Amino acid sequence: MASTETTSRSAELYQRACRSLATGVSSSLRRFVTETPLYIDHADGAHFYDVDGNCRADYTLGWGPLIVGSNHAGINAAVAKQLTKGYTYGCQHVAEIELAELIVESVPGVEQVIFSNTGTEAIQSAIRIARAHTGRDKILKFEGHYHGWLNNVLVSYRPKSEDTTLAQPTCGGQPASEYADTLVLPWNDIDALKDLFALRGDEIACVLTEPILANSGSCMPKPGYLEALVELCREHGAVSIFDEVITGFRIALGGAREYFGVEPDLSVYGKALAGGFTMSAVGGRAEMFEVLRDQRTIHSGTYNGTTFNIIAAIETIRELRKPGTYERMNAHGQAIAEALTSAAADVGLDVVVSGVGSVFSVHFGVKQAPRDYRDTTRSDMQTYTRFRAAMLDNGVQLLPDARWYIGTQHDEAVLEHVINAIESSMKDTV
Ligand code: PLP
Repeated sequence: MASTETTSRSAELYQRACRSLATGVSSSLRRFVTETPLYIDHADGAHFYDVDGNCRADYTLGWGPLIVGSNHAGINAAVAKQLTKGYTYGCQHVAEIELAELIVESVPGVEQVIFSNTGTEAIQSAIRIARAHTGRDKILKFEGHYHGWLNNVLVSYRPKSEDTTLAQPTCGGQPASEYADTLVLPWNDIDALKDLFALRGDEIACVLTEPILANSGSCMPKPGYLEALVELCREHGAVSIFDEVITGFRIALGGAREYFGVEPDLSVYGKALAGGFTMSAVGGRAEMFEVLRDQRTIHSGTYNGTTFNIIAAIETIRELRKPGTYERMNAHGQAIAEALTSAAADVGLDVVVSGVGSVFSVHFGVKQAPRDYRDTTRSDMQTYTRFRAAMLDNGVQLLPDARWYIGTQHDEAVLEHVINAIESSMKDTV
């Protein structure tokens, strides 16, 4: 990736880390972001500064959360004020009511919420609520969708078998008994869903879907697909769950519910919700949470509602509610998408961008946007990896899976830098 003389301090630190920190990194995929994992000294606005003194425009946004940038004045001031008032109480506090009210005001059809810390946890809470609500065990997910790292959902994320309905583990250490209740289908195929519901509808507690398949190529739902999915769930008494850990507060303030005008029973939020702090939530109609009120099931966690996370989320949402925020993020993303396709055409490469303005994926070597996981496997990732290496050398940090995130910190100056970097990196890629 970046030339060795510019990452020598990172390389030293990585070697040191590997002696005491197993694998040297704190999340498995981070080993593969760059050849030498980069050590960041600090981040400010749209830029990362590494320990070797390199400054790079960041389009990874910490894998999504940094939607209002790093070193954000409003978040800093609010969190600093809280520092002297207590870290975590294990009791109730006013800010958690304020955040719940803000989310309810911001997201169509969400009447109540519960809070937790990570997307992985919130997904499990939503599944448990659905099971308690329906008295059924089966959960249905789709190929290529990522819903956190736990065994019941880390299934058919990168399936190896050609069988599109076989529930397949993603890594070692996943006993079949732990995903025995997980059913799998190809995504964006309403007939497949109808057929399965006709056969096994009375066993299915919930259908779990990313509304945009952001984790696999940012595939868009076919017109009417999400509506039909929610409707089929209603007909068969199953709970529809949108995993909005990526799309929530990102593709619109009200996430996919607002963007597509579809209201599932439950939605799960994380990442952008708290601008980089550790916060997740499940939201839905009040009746969906009856199973918690009547104690049929529980939702727990020592750190649920921790003051800093709640306060950071409030400040993030306030920033996102400012007029013109989403228009600016979308315009920035669209300008990049156009620069990518036209720079690629100039050097004779096919490039397609799929997704929306503030989160999209770049596909080399194809002429049409992918519609499902199997489609995305046709993208030429080797060429993207060469392009990404050139972008890093040109001062732009990107994710390895070709997904780009845009935030409010990406201004005109960053846009000019990234467009120049795209033009020059595309020439280096051929
Ligand atoms: N759901 C989706 C759509 C995600 O993209 C992720 C993480 O990338 C998760 C759930 C899990 O969230 P977390 O990593 O916060 O546990």
